[in-house]
Amino acid sequence: MSTPPRVARGRFAPSPTGPLHFGSLVAAVASYADARHGGGEWRLRIDDVDVARARGDAADDIVATLARHGFHWDGNIVRQTQRIQRYDAAFAALRARDHVFACRCSRAALAQAPLGAAGERIYPGTCRDAEIAVGVADAGIAWRLRVDDAVIEFTDRVQGRQRQALATDVGDFVVRRSDGLYAYQLAIVVDDADDGITDIVRGADLLASTPRQIWLQRLLGLPQPFYLHVPVAINPRGDKLSKQTGARAVDADSLASLIAAWQFLDQPLPSVAPASPSQFWEHAIRAWTPSRIPPVNMLPCPPHWL
Ligand code: GLU
Repeated sequence: MSTPPRVARGRFAPSPTGPLHFGSLVAAVASYADARHGGGEWRLRIDDVDVARARGDAADDIVATLARHGFHWDGNIVRQTQRIQRYDAAFAALRARDHVFACRCSRAALAQAPLGAAGERIYPGTCRDAEIAVGVADAGIAWRLRVDDAVIEFTDRVQGRQRQALATDVGDFVVRRSDGLYAYQLAIVVDDADDGITDIVRGADLLASTPRQIWLQRLLGLPQPFYLHVPVAINPRGDKLSKQTGARAVDADSLASLIAAWQFLDQPLPSVAPASPSQFWEHAIRAWTPSRIPPVNMLPCPPHWL
């Protein structure tokens, strides 16, 4: 019996903190071309679980920008703020099996801990065995996931073999914050599984988070998707483009932005210059060649899009 060809389902999951900049467009272009190249589906999700960072009109703005760049998503747009019950259920499952513990450590208390692979403090285990008797939503209490001695290995489709010892590189990490919000790591793992995402294509700034997400998938009994991390666009100071670095919005000329993102990913250009985003996509979906993407974590942003 032969195996039917795998139909991929990809997604783009921007956080609505500001308008779409060049770095996020690169991730959107890569995930879209990757999914559509094999005839797969592509979903759009607004990662607004961190309501404190979300900016009111940013989601609508991003959606309009994507439409102007010729992206077509399948199904309805998912919003994390409408999915809190799903995160509650995942958290309850982890808690029932004692995978999480309550933590009262303040940021100041952790300031002396060494920095880990993802640029965050490695949790020193302070509250791990303290058995603090609290309700889930008690003020000032965060919930951390035990990492045990798990060593997570996976092969990224561009960045190659990856390996992280969670205990020494990250430590027990927060899945529910002291302000009651679910952490990004928990939310996206539940979202991607519920949505049947098979291929996660995103910026390499999230490469160091991937082992935590795989660990969560294992504890929750969820399938592990394929991963492809594209280089992150950085400014001359070496910072990832963001609202904080004042990165400009990609709005003005959508065709030029698409072509610049395509070149950033070192993808084959068409012999005849496309005249519209839809002509660009006709070529791009056909020509997508992930093996050409530079296997590095960051690359300089073209000056025009800084
Ligand atoms: N929402 C995340 C961001 O904008 C991306 C999440 C993901 O792709 O896994 O950085």
